[in-house]
Amino acid sequence: ETTATIIDGKSVAKQIKDEIASEISRMKETTGIVPGLAVILVGDRKDSATYVRNKKKACEAAGIKSYEAKLPEDSTEEEVLKFISEFNDDPSVHGILVQLPLPRHMNEETILNAVRIEKDVDGFHPLNIGRLAMRGRQEPLFVPCTPKGCIELLHRYGIDIKGKRAVVIGRSNIVGMPAALLLQREDATVSIIHSRTKNPEEIARQADIIISATGQPNMVKGSWIKPGAVIIDVGINPVDDPASPRGYQLVGDVCYEEACKIASAITPVPGGVGPMTIAMLLSNTLISAKRVHNFE
Ligand code: NDP
Repeated sequence: ETTATIIDGKSVAKQIKDEIASEISRMKETTGIVPGLAVILVGDRKDSATYVRNKKKACEAAGIKSYEAKLPEDSTEEEVLKFISEFNDDPSVHGILVQLPLPRHMNEETILNAVRIEKDVDGFHPLNIGRLAMRGRQEPLFVPCTPKGCIELLHRYGIDIKGKRAVVIGRSNIVGMPAALLLQREDATVSIIHSRTKNPEEIARQADIIISATGQPNMVKGSWIKPGAVIIDVGINPVDDPASPRGYQLVGDVCYEEACKIASAITPVPGGVGPMTIAMLLSNTLISAKRVHNFE
């Protein structure tokens, strides 16, 4: 039987979105300013189109004005850079998001570097990442949304991070690496497991808190988990399921059936970290608008 607390990301995300919506209406009433988010989508990947649509919908619901630039797969880097530069200069745009992955012929680094750090609501600009890594210096202007959402879930469920052993599985620039940096900032002792790690199970089993972002369905078995550990499962992995109308179902990186009997708290997939990512994007956009207009 399930003994773990199910960390309900969907309801926390809803609560946060409501908070953001009321902040935005307060801002609009006092200053007349409406936060704006520009999304750049290149190519016709179905999953990317879905993510962009969901982000737009969430913006509208919160009172954020959304702008979109849709470019064909065979666009040039210069064309993308031109849109970025226009959004950079547009005062009604407070956040710019380039939907990843970009087509292979484009240099992701060049494009992400072009976003003004004051509008880098994804937190992927190297300067923001560098500031996240360095302590006692300038703080990052934005923290990447998915890892920020993971930490927010821990906070909202009253889970202590300070002094805890945390293990992050995965070291990608968008999730694993910034998640490890954030946990360290929260005074956890952090280990990172990646594809070359020897005995990952042994390391994972030492964790009080596991954040997994590998894209490997059901990789983290019950035997990887210390009794009472807290599990944040970032993975969103489609696996074949002929019984489902879509022909597939979404599972996490963690074997939920086993983990929910051993962990003290766990995020489900879907309905865990996923909804938090969008909520944090709205939060970053609001932070940006408040910052430029000195609104508190
Ligand atoms: P990447 O593919 O960029 O990174 C995966 C990481 O996992 C790499 O660091 C890789 O190691 C590591 N890894 C892969 N296989 C293993 C293994 N067998 N053992 C140990 N480590 C392994 O993925 P992302 O970080 O972009 O995404 C990870 C997952 O999170 C995906 O399922 C994705 O769909 C999901 N996701 C969910 C989001 C949300 O909103 N909830 C947002 C973004 C992603 P190495 O570096 O050695 O290659």
